Amino acid sequence: MSQSLSNYMHMAVDEASNGVNYGDGGPFGAVVVRPRGPDTPEEYELVSRGHNMVLATCDPTAHAEVTAIRLACERLSQFHLTDCILLTSCFPCPMCMGACLWAQLGTVYFAASAEDASKLGGFNDAPYYGYVRGLMEKEVVTGMDNGDGKAGRMLGMKVERLVVDEYKRPFEEWNGKEDKRVLY
Ligand SMILES: [Zn+2]
Repeated sequence: MSQSLSNYMHMAVDEASNGVNYGDGGPFGAVVVRPRGPDTPEEYELVSRGHNMVLATCDPTAHAEVTAIRLACERLSQFHLTDCILLTSCFPCPMCMGACLWAQLGTVYFAASAEDASKLGGFNDAPYYGYVRGLMEKEVVTGMDNGDGKAGRMLGMKVERLVVDEYKRPFEEWNGKEDKRVLY
C-alpha cells in the first residue's frame, strides 16, 4: 500500500469530520485521486474531496461518495472516472456503490466497515442491500444479461479496506453532537 493513498484516506476521514462540524450531514467523507502519470503509478493527485451534504442541501442522494464523484466529473469534464481511485471513510451504501460502478472507478478503498457504521453511528444500510438482493432473488428485475461482457470493466472494480488510525473519530463526533437531527 502506498503511503500516499493512506494520506488521502486521512483526508477522507477529515472530510467526514468537516461535514459533522459544519452541520452539513452525517459523518462520511470521500476523496477522488488519480495517478500523476503512467511513469509514476504510485504517485497521485487530488481530483476532488467532499462530504455528506444531505442536511445542508436537503438532498437524500448527497452522500459523500456521490458528492466527490460529481465534483470529480465536473472538474475533469468527463462522466467516467476509469483511471481514478475513490477513497471513502466508510463502506459505500448501495446507492454509492452503484454510483461508483456507473462512474467506472478502477478501485474503491473504504476505512470503516458497514458493521462499524451500524455499531458506532447507528447507520445501518444492510436492509437496503437486502432489499435489492430480494428483488433479484424474486426475479422482479428481469431482462438482465450479465453475459455480454459490456459490464466487464465496471464489474472489475476493486473494493478493498484501507484503515487509518482515526477512522472512528467522525462517528464519535457525530454521537457527541447535540443538534443532530436525522439518522440516515
Ligand atoms: Zn451512500
